[in-house]
Amino acid sequence: MATMTGISPEVLAKYQPVIGLEVHVQLLTETKAFCGCVNKYGGEPNTHTCPTCLGLPGALPVLNRKAVEFAVLASKAIGCTINETSIFSRKNYFYPDSPKGYQISQFDKPLAEHGKLFVTGPDGQPRPIGITRLHMEEDAGKSVHDGFADSVSRTYVDLNRCGTPLVEIVSEPDLRTADEVFEYLTKLKEILLYAGVSDCNMEEGSLRCDANVSVMLKGAKEYGTKAEVKNVNSFRYIRSAVEYEIERQIGVIEEGGRVVQESRLWNQGEGRTYSMRSKEQAHDYRYFPEPDLPPLVVGAEWQEEIISALPELPEARRARMIAAYDISEQDAMTLTATKAFADKFEAAATKAKSAKRVASLLTSELTMRLRAAELEMDQSPVSMDGLVMAADLAESGELSSKMLKQLLDSCFASGEDFPVVYEREKPQQISDTGAIEAMIDEVIAANPKQVEQYRAGKKTVAAFFVGNVMRLSKGQANPALLNQLVAKKLDGQ
Ligand code: ADP
Ligand code: ZN
Ligand code: MG
Repeated sequence: MATMTGISPEVLAKYQPVIGLEVHVQLLTETKAFCGCVNKYGGEPNTHTCPTCLGLPGALPVLNRKAVEFAVLASKAIGCTINETSIFSRKNYFYPDSPKGYQISQFDKPLAEHGKLFVTGPDGQPRPIGITRLHMEEDAGKSVHDGFADSVSRTYVDLNRCGTPLVEIVSEPDLRTADEVFEYLTKLKEILLYAGVSDCNMEEGSLRCDANVSVMLKGAKEYGTKAEVKNVNSFRYIRSAVEYEIERQIGVIEEGGRVVQESRLWNQGEGRTYSMRSKEQAHDYRYFPEPDLPPLVVGAEWQEEIISALPELPEARRARMIAAYDISEQDAMTLTATKAFADKFEAAATKAKSAKRVASLLTSELTMRLRAAELEMDQSPVSMDGLVMAADLAESGELSSKMLKQLLDSCFASGEDFPVVYEREKPQQISDTGAIEAMIDEVIAANPKQVEQYRAGKKTVAAFFVGNVMRLSKGQANPALLNQLVAKKLDGQ
């Protein structure tokens, strides 16, 4: 196994990495956390601002109800217990993009605690990762270091982001590998997207993650000193950054040095982390209760009302769909990739003759063609309704699987939906009574046992004959006529 830093795998194997994550998530409210300014990414710099989010003297914060509701939804979705009463605190620090000189956050009494998420453990079984807390806070503005003619000598400040509602989700130091970090983040993002509380767009900074990493000798009782890796804007980069940081710390210890508690920056281009600053301790922030906001009380009734809007979450949904449609875990992953897609699929599939057939068409034939054409699911020429039509025709035996595949090929060649292509290219229908009767006779002669069952009263066996004749006719028998003639032959012969 290649390592990032050249440390041998044998040396790495002596150590146990320990990782805890702090994830900041912007909430999808229309307005900011404590004022009426629009909560929207981008915009002309410093236009989404008012005296409150600019921190002008005398301006007072008013808590956004919707932000609380989203925070409660997020808390519940990750299995946290809500504290009926939580307290806003001031976290004091100076930063040019934070004009108040403090951030409204929650400290010793957060909104929610004691959640968990599962990752896949080394034995393939789900392993719980504790979530220490979820607390509400506000975002800071942005320092803009480039893009201006005089950017070499000046930094500009854009306060549009100031006061955007955030939740911070802090994990226990339960993660053990970079892959687990990746999985945890992927799951967390999926859940938050399903819950509809954030767009989790990492490029725009709506989801940001700091990784706390330490290493200790295997079997040690006490965790090592941690360093915090900040500013990594994709899950893949975070995985690399954590992997690198683990090896760097092992290197330091192996050389007889000590890991220092600090914040480090990941540089993707160079594939390494750099020391940024020594980490502040909590007491440096001089936290104290926010005097301009009363305690936040989310009583049982309000909690219930909020939680009733929580949709079925991805893992539960996958389990249900695996059972309902008899599909593989892999296929369930495809179908539940986004809530919108899963909703769309299920709405259509329940209208189909066989939801299972729609699922299997979608995850095999359709997915295969999308991949070959390098298209995303939402760019598919075949709509969900078109797919249901195709599945129904296959289910009734009116389309052979070969014909179905040809029609789908045509859809992808022409960019047209299935019903259009079907109308034009559907198999020639045989409506010649004599020809169909001849085929029915052939099938009846070959299946005396089924004939007997039918005559003994099991009328559903008719479908067996219809299906077989349809296949024999290569899908070309007129279905209405076929049904009629099969019944006639079985009853009247
Ligand atoms: P701090 O006071 O430095 O902010 P916290 O105890 O609040 O530290 O933890 C912050 C994050 O760091 C949490 O996600 C936690 O799980 C993680 N963490 C704490 N100790 C360690 C450690 N020794 N190694 C790795 N992560 C740690
Ligand atoms: Zn404002
Ligand atoms: Mg802390």
